[in-house]
Amino acid sequence: MLVSAKEMLDKAKAGHYAVGHFNINNLEWTKSILSVAQEMNSPVILGVSEGAGKYMTGYKTVAAMVKAMLEEMGITVPVALHLDHGSYEGCKKCIEAGFSSIMFDGSHFSIEENIEKTKELVALAHANGMSLEAEVGSIGGEEDGVVGAGEFADPNECKMIADLGVDFLAAGIGNIHGKYPANWPGLNFDVLAKVQEKTGNLPLVLHGGTGIPADMIQKAINLGVSKINVNTECQLAFADATRKYIEAGKDLEGKGFDPRKLLAPGAEAIKATVREKIELFGSANKA
Ligand SMILES: [Zn+2]
Repeated sequence: MLVSAKEMLDKAKAGHYAVGHFNINNLEWTKSILSVAQEMNSPVILGVSEGAGKYMTGYKTVAAMVKAMLEEMGITVPVALHLDHGSYEGCKKCIEAGFSSIMFDGSHFSIEENIEKTKELVALAHANGMSLEAEVGSIGGEEDGVVGAGEFADPNECKMIADLGVDFLAAGIGNIHGKYPANWPGLNFDVLAKVQEKTGNLPLVLHGGTGIPADMIQKAINLGVSKINVNTECQLAFADATRKYIEAGKDLEGKGFDPRKLLAPGAEAIKATVREKIELFGSANKA
């Protein structure tokens, strides 16, 4: 059964570890992530961007697939199905489709409009037993057409949004989506510490988890980050393993062209990435 992400993240914040949010794109992605979470006895959040939702033919398809997989695979660890960087309309669709958590990304609106829309969606999400993530200070880089300039969140604005009763908060601290450039200055821990000070027990979210060095991840968790989003890293691992399979000519040997064989190395590579992240975030055996 799908659960809201509130309880697992409150527990993570209190226990000083983070829960991984892994974006899904299709059946292979979902199956790989769920099997590793179960194997490691870890809570997990499956993230769906609006683009990925569209790719999979719609949120209803995604919710139905994930719910059926939990049952067919015998998954017993807590799993949240979460809309990633949702628009106002997208959030409403996911509430109807049976997701268990949503992110409303109002970071590109004025703080007044962000507050107004977040407030309305918090009430709607909570009435449906779902958790809601809000965002202050856009995340840099590009994800499914959502381009952020990589601002630092204003701690006072974070407090204003936190006071609306949101369940967890994404605050820009110099993190970006996609691969980090060689001249990236790193996470800004001063901003993170100030945000944490203003928002107290509220779990904080770190987007753009791909390629952040392990020591920075640890420090961020110590400063109150309880959810870390990983997307690009699984994509790179999948592409790399698939390339190796094809370049080795394995698709030309016997029935190597069978999609179940062709996609297997990529699926295994996703599993290895998820295993490594769950280890690093400290959520193994916390289900
Ligand atoms: Zn993000």
